Amino acid sequence: MALIVQKFGGTSVASTDRIKKVARRVAHWKARGHDLLVVPSAMSGETNRLIALAREISEAPDPRELDVIASTGEQVTIGLLAMALKEEGVEAISYTGPQVRVLTDSTFTKARILQIDDRKIRDDLAAGRVVVVAGFQGADENGNITTLGRGGSDTSAVALAAALNADECQIYTDVDGVYTTDPRIEPEARKLDTITFEEMMEMASLGSKVLQIRSVEFAGKYKVKLRVLSSFQDEGEGTLITVEEDKHMEQPIISGIAFNRDEAKLTVLGIPDRPGVAYRLLGPIAEANIDVDMIIQNGASDETTDFSFTVNRGEFARALEIVQATAASLGARGVLSDNKICKVSAVGVGMRSHPGIASRMFDVLGREGINIKMISTSEIKISVVVDEKYLELAVRVLHKAFGLDKKEAV
Ligand code: ADP
Ligand code: ASP
Ligand code: MG
Repeated sequence: MALIVQKFGGTSVASTDRIKKVARRVAHWKARGHDLLVVPSAMSGETNRLIALAREISEAPDPRELDVIASTGEQVTIGLLAMALKEEGVEAISYTGPQVRVLTDSTFTKARILQIDDRKIRDDLAAGRVVVVAGFQGADENGNITTLGRGGSDTSAVALAAALNADECQIYTDVDGVYTTDPRIEPEARKLDTITFEEMMEMASLGSKVLQIRSVEFAGKYKVKLRVLSSFQDEGEGTLITVEEDKHMEQPIISGIAFNRDEAKLTVLGIPDRPGVAYRLLGPIAEANIDVDMIIQNGASDETTDFSFTVNRGEFARALEIVQATAASLGARGVLSDNKICKVSAVGVGMRSHPGIASRMFDVLGREGINIKMISTSEIKISVVVDEKYLELAVRVLHKAFGLDKKEAV
């Protein structure tokens, strides 16, 4: 007998029929003698609908109130799923995040989980109930409702699995595992049986939304056995996220191609090249809680320098406003911006021992006439920023060039 956490994403609970199917799956696991904690997302499209409602009232919705609204999607699915389980003859009880209590910090719309009180859940499990906990939400120390950022139910599930020391955390979604790239962009993408935490962290942080990055971080830190599976299939082992690369197997150099459409670039031209300038530019951006991704500072030629960085497209307008003000106060020559860019990345632990991957990537893109606007590398990834119109082409040519469509990747 094992304790298993099962998370079901939006498409897996998109209708009452789908919820009944989820209930049957959970009932099946329960009948095999396991303890089950189930974490549903909101019905697919519901969180978008709720956020759009808020935007009809206010252009820049108050973050606290936005969380009050956005968190309601999951409250509906926990109730429906608990009812569906009872219809299956399974004892079940639902809780919202704040009811459990999933304690978070107060960063509304992207709160971090600090602690989980597992007492209620343990008592219910001991009494033979399936416990259904709302994903994506918690409450801060003052009882304010918070949400964990888009895709945050993955993190709720992994955090609950860690708190309860569960034997496995299963993420059920609309694909049957983690692929070499998004199968919706590249039909030749291959499902991976395993992927290391390190690679999955990179893939998630570089835009593969199959798992929210914080869920991977959590699972790595607390050694949660994490698996991605399809809720639309009854068979299949999905993809297991593994702690270490399997030393017995020849690792491919590149494991996957990730991409992110939500990028925007800002360039400050001709700022005086002196100590403290980077801080003066990016300090106000950090204070506004805007995440900066890539940063490039060009070598100075005439005692001035150009400084470029990228932010999430949703935060572009605010970032531009802040940068324009700072640039003026620094005596910069001007500010350029481009919000029609995307980032495409190749990820693989095998890169460590194989030089020349970056130049190969640049060669492949160059041959297709794709201009590279920015580059960044780490030990196990190479990212390029390109015009968003080239996204699909870049993903496909890189996927093919690195042999990811074949079983034996190069
Ligand atoms: P859920 O609602 O179940 O959380 P998401 O839409 O958040 O589902 O994540 C699943 C989606 O992630 C897939 O439908 C797929 O389009 C996308 N995806 C992006 N990159 C990958 C990848 N490398 N492997 C599998 N799916 C990916
Ligand atoms: N419902 C939330 C969202 O759409 C959380 C999730 O699906 O994981 O982002
Ligand atoms: Mg998701």
